[in-house]
Formats: sequence, structure tokens, C-alpha cells
Amino acid sequence: MTISIHSTDRVFVLTGAGISAESGLPTFRASDGLWEGYRIEDVCTPEAWERDPASVWAFYSARRAAAQKAKPNPAHCALAKLESQLPERFFLCTQNVDDLHERAGSVHLVHMHGELAKSRCEYECGAPPVEDRAVYASLAEVGRCGCGGRLRPHIVFFGEVPLEMDRIQRELAKATWMLVVGTSGSVYPAAHFVHWARHAGARTVYVGPERPLNAAAFTHVVDGKAGEVLPELFQVED
Ligand code: NAD
Repeated sequence: MTISIHSTDRVFVLTGAGISAESGLPTFRASDGLWEGYRIEDVCTPEAWERDPASVWAFYSARRAAAQKAKPNPAHCALAKLESQLPERFFLCTQNVDDLHERAGSVHLVHMHGELAKSRCEYECGAPPVEDRAVYASLAEVGRCGCGGRLRPHIVFFGEVPLEMDRIQRELAKATWMLVVGTSGSVYPAAHFVHWARHAGARTVYVGPERPLNAAAFTHVVDGKAGEVLPELFQVED
């Protein structure tokens, strides 16, 4: 399939863990609902943070170390190239917490589930997230905010509200094409976005090696790995 992008088109892209799989970062539902051997409820929820911040930091420190070693793959690069061809008409929303899109050259993007390379106060004290790529060996190494709160990963835990939802909804309402890559369609609200885009009149395409749970909502489903499909997918017309 080829997506021909015309001068009146606006492209909204949603990516999930699958786009980083070919960079060596495991997806999340790969083995029995475990992520790298951890149960999600033990490390990715507000309750886990309350109960056992040391395990939460051990998990996210390991994720930081893996993400720092990974490199963008041809799928990240294809999206960055597309953005450079339509700078004001392209918007990228990623569920991923790695920074491979930025390292490939993407500029107009939001991380709706947060960023591994940042930390923030555990309390809603108003202090903004800070750059933090540290791989902590113990909880004692983790710093504190000026208010006294412990720094936590700048990650949207399950049960917390995703970031930038107003901006995402505005961009979805303007889209004429929506491209979704490498996400299982099981994490909400992201799994609803295809319905919102269809409602706004966009054509919708999914790319990945398995059908997502919300496959029926797409106008096209392209079966394949992101790094093989995306570099050949777009044709930008003047
Ligand atoms: P998921 O693990 O539920 O689903 C991954 C999807 O990617 C699957 O549908 C699978 O078929 C597909 N996939 C596997 N290899 C692919 C490839 N080469 N090309 C294209 N698709 C491929 O992931 P999700 O739906 O993104 O939800 C999991 C949540 O976990 C996300 O919200 C994200 O925040 C987090 N997560 C992030 C990372 C990361 O930042 N790299 C990694 C794992 C999980």
C-alpha cells in the first residue's frame, strides 16, 4: 500500500511499543502479560509507587539503561523524514517512553505516557519535570524535590491521566490521515483515537505484524514490521 499525501492533508501518527521492537526494546505484552519479568501492577501503578518505590525505580532504571543503548530504526527515521516534508501538517503522538523518535529527528511530538529521560516530584507541588537519565543502583541515590517529595519517574502509571490530551484531541480533529503503528489497541484512551479520527473524517491505517484488538475501526490494516513497511509507505505530492 502507498499513502499519497496531498497539499491539503494533515497526518496524525500514533505509535506504540512495536515501533521500537526492531531497535531491541521489548514490547509490553510479549510474554504472559509480563514486561521484562515484572508484573505491571508491581511497578507501573500509583499503588506500587506508594508501597515499594525501590522496585519501581529498579524497573525504570533498567528501562533507562536499555533505552540509552538502543538506536532509532528505519521506522522512526521514516516518520522523521515525512515530518520534514510536511512540517506544519504532521503531528506525532507516541505511547512510548523512550526517546527514539526525537533521536531520529521528529520535532512535533508528544509523549502521552511520559518520558524515561525525565523525573518529577511525587507530589503535585507544581514543580516541572526535570531531565534525569540516571540509572539508580538504590533508592538512596534518588534525589528530592525542593518541597521534600521524592523524585519519581516522569511516567504515566496505569490509572493516571495521560498527558497533553487537549492538544491530542485538537490535532485528531484536524487530521485527514491517521497512521497507527505497533500498538495492540488494548491501552485506553489511545485505543479510542482511531474512532475519534474516523469521526472527524480521516482515513485510518494500522501497520504491524498482528491485528490490533481495534482492527475493525481501521480503513486499512497493513501486515508487516514497522521498519520494513514505513520507509516505503508514503508518497508526498506537491
Ligand atoms: P503492546 O506491547 O501492548 O503492543 C505492542 C504491539 O506492537 C503489538 O500489537 C505487536 O504486534 C506490535 N509489534 C511487535 N513488533 C512490531 C514491529 N516490528 N513493527 C510494528 N509493530 C510491532 O504495546 P502498546 O500498545 O504500545 O502498549 C503498551 C504500553 O507500554 C505503552 O503505553 C507504552 O507506554 C509502554 N511501553 C513502552 C515501550 C517503549 O517506550 N519502547 C516499550 C514497551 C512498553
